[in-house]
Order: sequence, then structure tokens, then C-alpha cells
Amino acid sequence: MKNPFRTLPSMSRRSLIAGSAMSLLLPTFGRAEVETNPDIVIVGAGAAGIAAAHALSERGIRYVMVEAGSRIGGRAYTETETFGVPFDHGAHWVQSETRNPYFERAKDGPYRFYRAPDNYRVFDAGGEVDSDALAVLWRTWENVEEAMGEAGENGWDVAPSTVASDSGAWANTAWFGIGPWEMGKDMDDFSCLDWWNSADSIDWYCAAGYGRLVADHGAGLPVALDTAVTRIAWDGAGVTVETTGGTIKARAVILTVSTGVLASGDIVFDPALPVSMQEAIHGIPMGDYNHIALHFSQDIFGMGEDGYLLHQVDDSMEAFGALTNASGSGLAYCDVGGSFARELEAAGEQASIDFVMEKLRAMLGSDVDRTFRKGATTAWRSDPLFRGCYASASFGAYPMRRVLREPIGERIFLAGEACHPELWATVGGAALSGTEVAARTVEALG
Ligand SMILES: Cc1cc2nc3c(=O)[nH]c(=O)nc-3n(C[C@H](O)[C@H](O)[C@H](O)COP(=O)(O)OP(=O)(O)OC[C@H]3O[C@@H](n4cnc5c(N)ncnc54)[C@H](O)[C@@H]3O)c2cc1C
Repeated sequence: MKNPFRTLPSMSRRSLIAGSAMSLLLPTFGRAEVETNPDIVIVGAGAAGIAAAHALSERGIRYVMVEAGSRIGGRAYTETETFGVPFDHGAHWVQSETRNPYFERAKDGPYRFYRAPDNYRVFDAGGEVDSDALAVLWRTWENVEEAMGEAGENGWDVAPSTVASDSGAWANTAWFGIGPWEMGKDMDDFSCLDWWNSADSIDWYCAAGYGRLVADHGAGLPVALDTAVTRIAWDGAGVTVETTGGTIKARAVILTVSTGVLASGDIVFDPALPVSMQEAIHGIPMGDYNHIALHFSQDIFGMGEDGYLLHQVDDSMEAFGALTNASGSGLAYCDVGGSFARELEAAGEQASIDFVMEKLRAMLGSDVDRTFRKGATTAWRSDPLFRGCYASASFGAYPMRRVLREPIGERIFLAGEACHPELWATVGGAALSGTEVAARTVEALG
């Protein structure tokens, strides 16, 4: 049983160098000072780019890291301005404790790091459901996952919707939980085989924010912010990386942007990438997952810190699942995924907040309005620096994950969440990929 992001009860689903680098800097490059002739250019300063930079630093390799955005961390981003408490716009669940390098960092730091509790409240149209109904929901959920697991074990690269035939009152809810809520995709849009080959995880929380943990790891690394790569020429020796701040020539490039960015054509490759690589980029597309974050003055959800709230999902599949009172902050992450998340993102912030508030009112009554302070939403699909939440293989495309990891001309190396064989879609996977790809790049350069 799999679960990239949450664990349900009763189921197992789911320094170069800063010093010496600085001495290599040439005067101004865009807004930052960077060397224009390093060994390696790292594109993107998310978890993968940061890990790659540390790995190159440790080996004494000259690199330049360029980031199109005005901050580091990428899809791991915490800020406190919106609500006065940590708000993770992207990753929030810290996973894969045995392999995720952020685990040890979180334990040692000032983050209040603790294992996620497992409290659920589930509602249908008549109010909160009893333990019998809950048991039916979890059994349905398990049945769907078992069908998907069987397909995966048999090597069937098919969509979950073709193997999961469960019907009944809770089938839509289970489909919502496994598809949009976990994978950021509808059950027609990903591969059982890819899902099956992802790693199981137990979730932990970092009260200070997962994004803060990642940003702290990258603090002090040399990075040229607000510098977007627009073109990578690899026809001659090495690579020529054109950016909005100037041109960098290097021996190789580590490219950590999302498959959504790669598929968009915002970075032009000259010559074009091999057809197999283009197919892989399009075969492992981004999903949709947004937080509709609502701040309440009191814990109206009645589960203490970090409870989960679900509602019975009807055939419209218009649904959210919430993590309530995150780390006791009063913040509820009411999350939507898949095609409905895309629709709500297009409808805008107020429409998204209204959708959740209406459902919450039906579940919890007037306390919702009395204690509501403020809401805000994320919009990962519309952001040209990401173009979605995280990637997973479409049905039939599972073998293409391997292709993503193949070096191009021994000088363009893809890294990032989509490139990790089992921990894809996670921060830990992105970081591991960055570290591994940096080592492979150095080896290739000899
Ligand atoms: C809403 C949401 C919830 C999530 N929940 C979890 C979770 O709970 N747990 C978990 O482990 N993971 C979660 N994830 C996934 C996790 O955030 C990502 O897998 C991980 O952060 C990806 O890191 P990365 O370095 O591969 O890519 P990114 O973080 O995307 O880094 C790539 C960087 O490249 C930059 N860039 C883009 N284009 C250019 C360009 N042309 N030139 C230069 N730079 C460019 C981007 O600005 C970005 O900073 C979630 C993601 C989202 C969006």
C-alpha cells in the first residue's frame, strides 16, 4: 500500500565553499555577482539545487547556481507574513525518515519536529459519521489501494480507474483521497505501476515550516536570484547557458526545474533535446495540488493539533481534505487536487475560499464564521516557475522515469523530484536526486 503524503489509520498506505566560491566571483551578473565560466551551472535553487550545490562545494568544484525566482527553496516555501504563523505554500509533510536528509536536520534544529498524529473526523450530509461508517470508508479505501497494488505488482502500467471498481457510498471519497488528495491527479491520470513503485512513508511535522528547513539549508550558498535561464546551447564543447542576467559558459549543467517548466518550452535547447527525453518530460507531467489555507482564532475542529477532516464526496468530485490546526497555529490546510484544483485555481482565491467555507459551515455550523480570520490560496499551476505541484507518470509512461535520469550529451543532467526513482514528488527525493546527480556530473567531467 502506498501513500506519498499521508498515513491513514489502520492502513499502511501511505562550502567551496562559500568562502572560496566568493573569491571566484566576477563583477555583476544581472543582480548578482557570479562567475561566467564555472565548471557547472545549477539551474534552480529548490531542494535539488541546494543539495547539488552542497555536494559540489564539498568536492571543491566551481559552480554557479541561478534561480529565476527571488527566493530559494522552490516548492518548499514557508512564510509568516500572510497569517502571522508559518504557512507552507508547498511541501508540509516531512517524509521518508530513513532516507530523507532533512530528517536529521529537522531533529537538530529549532523547528519543533514531531511525528504526525493520526486523528480523523469525517462528515456526510447528516453530520459526523460514526465508527461503523468510518470502518466502511477505510475498507473501501484499502480495497481501491489493493487493486492498484495488484496492478503495480503485476507490472500493469494502467490508470487506477481501470482497476479500481469499488462502488458504494464511500467510493468517491476513497478515490478523492488516493488520487487528487495524495497524487494531485484524478484516478484516470496516473499509472498504478508508478504509484506502486513509490516509497511508503510515515509523516512528521516541522512546526516552523518545511520550507524554512529547506531555506535554512540553502542559506549562505552563492546563488544568483531573479535570473531565469532562457536557452541552453550544447552543440559545441560544454554548454552555453543564456539567462536574463547574461551568458554563462560551463562544462556541464544540472537542471532542476520541474517537468512542467521543461515541457513548457520556456527554456530553449539548441539542439533540441533527444526525442526520448522529450517524451519522458511529457510522459511524467505535473499534477495539481493547492492549499486553501484558512486561519481560525480557535480550534473549531476539536482534534487538538494536526487533525484530518474529510467529507463524503459526491459524483461531482468537488472535494477538499483538511489538515486542521496545523502545529497548533490555528491554520487549516484545506487541500484540493487534480482537475478540480485546476478549476478552482482558475476561478480564483475568493471562489476557492467560498467553496471550502460553505462546506465547513455545513459540517461545523456557525463557529466557522465566528472564528474565521483570514484565508489565502496557492496557485502552483499558474506560476510559470513551477507549472503544477509535483510530477507522476501517466499510464503507459512508467519506463520513462528512467529516461529522465539519463545524461544528455554527457553535459546536461536533469535532477529534482521527478528524477528520484521512489521518492519522487517529495522534498527528500528532490534533495537526494540533487546530491546523486552532482556526484554523477563530477564523475562525467573526469
Ligand atoms: C502544494 C504542494 C504540496 C506538497 N506537499 C509535499 C509534502 O507534503 N511533502 C513533500 O515531501 N513534498 C511535497 N511537495 C513536493 C515538493 O515540494 C517537491 O517535490 C520539491 O520541493 C521539489 O524540489 P525540486 O528542487 O525538485 O524542484 P523546485 O522546488 O521546483 O526547484 C526548482 C527551481 O527552479 C526554478 N526555476 C524554474 N524555472 C527556472 C528557469 N528558467 N531558470 C532558473 N530557475 C528556474 C524555480 O523557481 C525553483 O526554485 C508538495 C508540493 C506542492 C506544490
